[in-house]
Amino acid sequence: NVRTRFAPSPTGYMHIGNLRTALYEYLIARKYNGKFILRIEDTDQERFVEGAVDVIYKTLKLAGISHDEGPDVGGNYGPYVQSERRGMYLEYAKKLVELGGAYYCFCTKERLAELKEKQDAEGHGHRYDRCCLSLSKEEIEENLKNNVPYVIRQKMPDTGTTSFEDAVYGTITVDNSELDDQILIKTDGLPTYNFANVIDDHQMEISHVVRGNEYLSSTPKYNLLYEAFGWDIPTYVHVPLILKASGQKLSKRAGDPSFEDLVSMGYLVEAIVNYVVLLGWSPSSNQEIYSLKELEEVFEISGISKAPAIFDINKLTWMNGEYIRKMPVEEFHNLALPFYEKAITNKNIDTLKLSKLLQIRTEVLTTIPETIDFLDQLPDYDVQMYIHKKSKTTLENSLENLTAAYPILDGISDWNADSIHEKIFAHIEALGIKNSLMLWPIRTAVSGKAVTPGGAIEIADIIGKEETLKRISIGMD
Ligand code: GLU
Repeated sequence: NVRTRFAPSPTGYMHIGNLRTALYEYLIARKYNGKFILRIEDTDQERFVEGAVDVIYKTLKLAGISHDEGPDVGGNYGPYVQSERRGMYLEYAKKLVELGGAYYCFCTKERLAELKEKQDAEGHGHRYDRCCLSLSKEEIEENLKNNVPYVIRQKMPDTGTTSFEDAVYGTITVDNSELDDQILIKTDGLPTYNFANVIDDHQMEISHVVRGNEYLSSTPKYNLLYEAFGWDIPTYVHVPLILKASGQKLSKRAGDPSFEDLVSMGYLVEAIVNYVVLLGWSPSSNQEIYSLKELEEVFEISGISKAPAIFDINKLTWMNGEYIRKMPVEEFHNLALPFYEKAITNKNIDTLKLSKLLQIRTEVLTTIPETIDFLDQLPDYDVQMYIHKKSKTTLENSLENLTAAYPILDGISDWNADSIHEKIFAHIEALGIKNSLMLWPIRTAVSGKAVTPGGAIEIADIIGKEETLKRISIGMD
């Protein structure tokens, strides 16, 4: 029975890495007809972040990942928010004490601080010295009776090694002597994150634990907890880091985009999802473009790689362009409309024609306004733009050809790309000149730009006859 879980801490935003984990967990669940669970891990939250849980719901929804169980949709394994589970962990810890996998520790803050100081002075890492492990049963009972504050610590094995299998990283073995007797229950009776995480995964019958490889070093401790309780151990799937091209980790603080940021930068959700799944996972074929539905079929844990993945915004941009090109023009048009509104107010502009022109040339929607702003208002341009070596245009022949084009254009009664094309090309032929001698100056006059979506005729068509003539006469000035 496959059951996977996405267990984000509500920080207020969704890292690309978090989204990837959610996607892999979702895909594993779908592929094996299992259940995908959302659990909110707010145990170690230092401060409450307003609306942070909503960001998680919103992101999952936007990405098209639906969970089968969770705080908002319910399920038989709830509650699905850790802070609402508070009460249950202490019992598990007490059970573990009975089983010999944990013990009470009554050391005071002062003693622990001294210990740390001593260890600092000796130049080794902090770890608990197991002072309370030697307490007798009577001493412990006495302390408990007198309400002496305590924590419960995990009892690590004294000797030997701990090994576990990771589906991506293989067999991992650590010396038990390296493991600290970590705190499971704090003096306030509440669990530490590490303890709650294991109890929840067990209690929710999670079969596959997918998480970032920064948790790889904690997993031996988790594994020992499962063993001490005598519980089934889930399949561990640790996923590689996501780095920038510079080799640094992606980070919100360094200004690297979150999922939401990418969406507001104009990337399509489908493209982001597709790209993020490919960060650290490869299909068995060379195909790169996948819908979420397709991924639900082809995703395999064995395709996850150990090597760090590189987040390359250019690759995402390319992929986004692929998604834009393959959508129906009406869909592109609807997506592009809000961006048109930012750049053009002129009601005479035929935006559907514009969409046909832009769809094949657009990689990211947010670049649209700067690409088309000239449609609304002719920019101030340098007259030198009429001189184009390859087109063999000069200021003189440009003026000549614009002057010739004006009455031709003025004479067109049914203004559209075909009719403009027909008349202009008939005239080019009559004059016996190179196409570019006529088309370059027209394009420059109507756009005032060196780079435009579409050529002279397409632009003239879109801005309309009146505006075209107006701009040609400005060009002739
Ligand atoms: N709450 C952890 C995080 O957000 C999840 C760790 C896990 O999946 O076990 O990183």
